[in-house]
Amino acid sequence: MQLRKKIILLVRCLAKPVVTEFPLWVLWLVALSIGGVCDIERLWDIEFPKASYIISLLRIVGYGVCMSAMLAYLVAALAHMCRTRWVRWPLAMMALLITGTYLFIRYHYGTRLTPEIATVIRETNQGEASEYLGTYVFSLTGLPIILGLLTAMATWCGIDVWWHRGHTKFHVLSRMGAWQAALITVVALVILGGTFKMAQYWPLIDQLKHQHRSHYENFGVDALTNLMKCHHQLQRVDEQTTLSIASTQQVYSTPTQPTTSDSLTVVLVIGESYIKAHASIYGYDKPTTPIQEKERDAGRLIIFGDIVSPYSYTNSAMRCLLSVNDHASGQQWYDDPLFPAIFKHGGYAVDFWDNQREFMKGTVNTNGLNGLMYHPEIIRLCYTRINDRNSEFDGEFIEDYAAHRHDSQHELVLLHLRGQHIKAERRYPHTPQWMHFKPEDYSQHWPPLDSEGQWLVAHYDNATRYNDYVLGQIFALFANRAAVVVCLSDHGDEVYDYRGGIGRRDDNEHPELMVQYQHSIPFVVWCSPRLQQTHPQLVERIRQATERPGTLDNVSQMLLDISGIATPWYHAERDILSPTYQCPKRVVREKYDYDELTQQAE
Ligand SMILES: [Zn+2]
Repeated sequence: MQLRKKIILLVRCLAKPVVTEFPLWVLWLVALSIGGVCDIERLWDIEFPKASYIISLLRIVGYGVCMSAMLAYLVAALAHMCRTRWVRWPLAMMALLITGTYLFIRYHYGTRLTPEIATVIRETNQGEASEYLGTYVFSLTGLPIILGLLTAMATWCGIDVWWHRGHTKFHVLSRMGAWQAALITVVALVILGGTFKMAQYWPLIDQLKHQHRSHYENFGVDALTNLMKCHHQLQRVDEQTTLSIASTQQVYSTPTQPTTSDSLTVVLVIGESYIKAHASIYGYDKPTTPIQEKERDAGRLIIFGDIVSPYSYTNSAMRCLLSVNDHASGQQWYDDPLFPAIFKHGGYAVDFWDNQREFMKGTVNTNGLNGLMYHPEIIRLCYTRINDRNSEFDGEFIEDYAAHRHDSQHELVLLHLRGQHIKAERRYPHTPQWMHFKPEDYSQHWPPLDSEGQWLVAHYDNATRYNDYVLGQIFALFANRAAVVVCLSDHGDEVYDYRGGIGRRDDNEHPELMVQYQHSIPFVVWCSPRLQQTHPQLVERIRQATERPGTLDNVSQMLLDISGIATPWYHAERDILSPTYQCPKRVVREKYDYDELTQQAE
């Protein structure tokens, strides 16, 4: 009997914060787990939800709810100890603000709070943010959320007053019936689950230092986990930028080796979301690349067949393209300098013309990358000139560059296009000249397409054809220079190829196909007529390398080779043009061995 009494006493004592502050506990529980609710929504996005998928989703949502219950308990305990509404009500206000923030992000960005979104929010400058919030609050989406929150706060205060006036709570504790006991047990189990999950945060925090994004995936999707993720991600972005700057500064402490006296123009054209399977130079049955074919036939365009990008999203692909790090041996992009600095220090004028700087401004990709590319110190170290305006279409963008350019004896020109980036429909002018492919051209397409699908593929192919024209413009621009123009894409894409849909979704069933479409990239090198005269050996070396397998992250080694700059960051064994070249292990998506995977499939 004594023991039973003790247990009851303990349960009562532990349950007290929840019972006395029940309205506050529920409010915090809802506020913290709302991220999880947003995640459940994902279930409706897939057509045939698989049992395993649902289970894993319920598991992470479950973790989230448990963690939220535990944290809500701590908040309730705080309010319980203070016993005044001047603590309770501000706490309730906080919970509602969290909910409001989540709803805002949900409806504005169409996603739950993620580290990327947090980066975006932080990088939108203060002035813009307040101005923006002002307009948002009175907008059609903003107003209902604000009014809803105010109503919720008023209602909650009413309930709280009623709860604390009444004796309901003490009732529950003094005469604990079966129902109350069951309820308390459930609450206790949930809170215990949360405590258990919380304990697992410690190893997670340690793992995070080693940058394993995936570790988060199995964690809760509650507000706290999200906030932790966001905080950590922002910190990491800052650290990486600082490290990258420090690595790039090192370039300037190495002696400058004069380049050859012959003038030379090295151009890197960075395309976007360009899938090889839709380029006729790579065998596509629709004429999407007529200009490149003409250049190839004239002996000026050299086509590489087997280059792979380690990532299928712009941010990471760009970082590994620009850094001279040894990606395959696990070196991080920020451990080594960005290659444009080596060119600048080596006596080259470096033009960086970027048509994605303003593209989808305020989104994850643009803001994340801009934080690095336009850091004042990176600008100073890497570029001689940068563009100040963007154009809707790449063709106009190249005209803008042409109007601003002036010749230098040695020059590196980086042209970052919009290419066929999401919404290929918007990447080309809708004039009869460029509306070349029509939906009816895809009536025999496999997999079969409905009319929307036919339009999507037609738009993509039109954008690819327009991109071909843009490349033609670039070749023409350098026709009288001794120029090497390297054209590639940061990653591939999918446009109803081996499965339905567009974009860069994961595929656990057919990763061997997914990596081919999303990671194998077009890679062509244009050599101007003058270059063929002044640098015949270089042109020959490029021709001999076309069959070699390569990776996007080692393109910088090839460019350093072409530049003739003597630098400690050049490594012949990673330079695809070098006779001592050895293709490194090609890891894509940080988990697949590209060659192993695709060879198994054959
Ligand atoms: Zn991209």
